[in-house]
Amino acid sequence: MQQILVLNSGSSSLKFQLFSMPEENVLCSGLIERIGSEDAKFKYKTNGETIKVVTPILNHRIALELLSKQLLDPETGTIKSPEDIDVVAHRVVHGGKEFSETIEITKSVKEKIKDLSSLAPLHNPANLEGIIVAESIFKNAKQVAVFDTAFHQTIPEHVYKYALPNKYSDKIRLYGFHGTSHKYVSEKALCLLGKKESKIITIHLGNGCSMSAIKNGVCIDHSLGFSPNAGLIMGTRSGDLDPTIIFYLAEKFNLTLNDLNTLLQKESGMLGLTGHGDLREIEALANQGDKACQLAIKMNTYRIKKYIGSYTAILNGLDAIVFTAGIGENSTVMRELICEDLDFLGIKLDILKNNERLKTVREINDENSKVKVFVIPTNEELEIAKETFDLIKE
Ligand code: AMP
Repeated sequence: MQQILVLNSGSSSLKFQLFSMPEENVLCSGLIERIGSEDAKFKYKTNGETIKVVTPILNHRIALELLSKQLLDPETGTIKSPEDIDVVAHRVVHGGKEFSETIEITKSVKEKIKDLSSLAPLHNPANLEGIIVAESIFKNAKQVAVFDTAFHQTIPEHVYKYALPNKYSDKIRLYGFHGTSHKYVSEKALCLLGKKESKIITIHLGNGCSMSAIKNGVCIDHSLGFSPNAGLIMGTRSGDLDPTIIFYLAEKFNLTLNDLNTLLQKESGMLGLTGHGDLREIEALANQGDKACQLAIKMNTYRIKKYIGSYTAILNGLDAIVFTAGIGENSTVMRELICEDLDFLGIKLDILKNNERLKTVREINDENSKVKVFVIPTNEELEIAKETFDLIKE
């Protein structure tokens, strides 16, 4: 039995889960938010009990030290010493083309993660900070990196390459993101289908949204690209745009590169269209007749349908689609609109099953549907723990 601490460090947050593997038991878990501010929040869960602490947490070191004193083992009822942790697994957003697999962290791995910061300036520096601090606190633990981009490394060259002059193509290519989520739910779907030789589309709809085309368990296309702002309409990100719009905005509205970055990453998508980033509010307002919200939902689901069509074509068939993440798992309206009028592709939803508010893995297609429609709750932390366990047990 191994205890694996999974850490997901963002620029101002730190999520953690302590697993005992291979049993996949969560011993404790938590979230520290607003690191760097006076009113940082520390939410911690163990034995089903949630404790909230509001305190100034000025940096990742203080956050991780605080966390390291709270690792309660419910089986023994004792707080674990940081020295007892066997393995710390870190979520790292960008692995570039260098990392296609989970790997033990060495000096050279850290240097490469640092080099990749220009491709993920919001994420990789925070991930690296988490690694450096964890090394000094969990002194006896192996440190392992699991990359969001790794699952997409199987995408072939004619798909990942952009039609730019070749001299730019060393770094500029499709990398893809949300890889641990797509991997986790696609493996569950393959188990449900009972065969690896399957054609699947996974649809991850949360604050960030993406889709993957998966053939025989291998990712062959993906909707996010060079950065996590391509493809689908997201909470605050635009997704696919004609690049000329960016020049037009800069010229006509005097926007700087920085302004444009903020506009496309933080002020666009559903927020830009409706004034709201949370789909629950948008759905409620659409129900009350708000035209902007109704239109935004229509635009959003239309784009997802378009991707389902194109992925069905490149897969040359379709066995299942999988909905996951906050919206995919919970929004009956979005799932219904996405699956509407797709009977030509063999997709037919069972409306009653779709409307059941469950938190479990389930099949929501009509029994005559050629294509299975699954809702599979994602669990990126568990996937990270599983991959880490597979690496260290070898
Ligand atoms: P995630 O990034 O996976 O945590 O997903 C966050 C998104 O899920 C937010 O836009 C939420 O509005 C959305 N969400 C969560 N629960 C529901 C729900 N019951 N109905 C619609 N959207 C939901």
